[in-house]
Amino acid sequence: MGYFHSMNPSDFDLAYQNQSTESKIVASLERIAQAFRVLLWQESKAFSLSPIQVQVLIFLLYHSSEKRKVSYLADEFNMTKATISDTIKTLEQKNLITKEYEPHDTRSYIIHLTKKGKDIAGKTSLFTKEIRTPVDQLHPDDKEGLLLSLLNIIRHLNRSEVITIQRMCMTCTYYRPSAKGQKHFCKLLNQPLYTKDLRVDCPEHKIRADMQL
Ligand code: SF4
Repeated sequence: MGYFHSMNPSDFDLAYQNQSTESKIVASLERIAQAFRVLLWQESKAFSLSPIQVQVLIFLLYHSSEKRKVSYLADEFNMTKATISDTIKTLEQKNLITKEYEPHDTRSYIIHLTKKGKDIAGKTSLFTKEIRTPVDQLHPDDKEGLLLSLLNIIRHLNRSEVITIQRMCMTCTYYRPSAKGQKHFCKLLNQPLYTKDLRVDCPEHKIRADMQL
C-alpha cells in the first residue's frame, strides 16, 4: 500500500489496475458513468434536446417547488446560474416550462413543467432502464451491500466538495447512526432505517448544519 501510494499510481495504468481490486472498481465506475452519458445523449437526441435540458426536465418532474429554482438547479448540476438560466430560457422557448415570478422578488421564479414538458420528462426519465436490468438481477444481499458502498462513495465526494447538494440520509439532520454505525435511525420518521430504507434523494431531507458548504 505504502509503496503504491508513494508511486501515486493511476487507476488507468493497466499494469497496476489489473492487480488492484480498488482500481478495478474505480475503472468500472468510470465505465458506468460513461454508459449514463451515452444513454442520456441518445435519449436527448431522440427529442432534439441537450443532455442538460433532459436532466433539468427530469429533475423538475420529481421535485417540489422550493427546489425548482435556478439557484437550486445550479447547485444540483454543479453549473453556474448563467448556464442554468440559459437552459431554462431554451426550455421556455420550446414550450416545455413556464416561470412563476415570486410577488416580492421579480428576479426569482419557480419553474413549472407544461403538459408537453411533463410528457417528455416522463418518457426521457426511463433512459436508465438498461442499467437497471442487471441491478434487478443481483442477489438481495448484494443489492444492500452495493447501495451502502455507493452511499459511502457519494458521501465522501460530497465531503471533499467534488459534488454539492446531496439529499441522502447520511447528510441529514434527522439521521442518527448507531454507536457502531451499523443501524441507522430517522428522527423525522421516528423509525429505524434498515439498509434498504436508506435514501439517496429524500423529499424530507434537511441538510445537517456541519454539512453546509
Ligand atoms: S428525513 Fe429522509 S434523509 Fe433524513 S434521515 Fe429521514 S429518511 Fe433519511
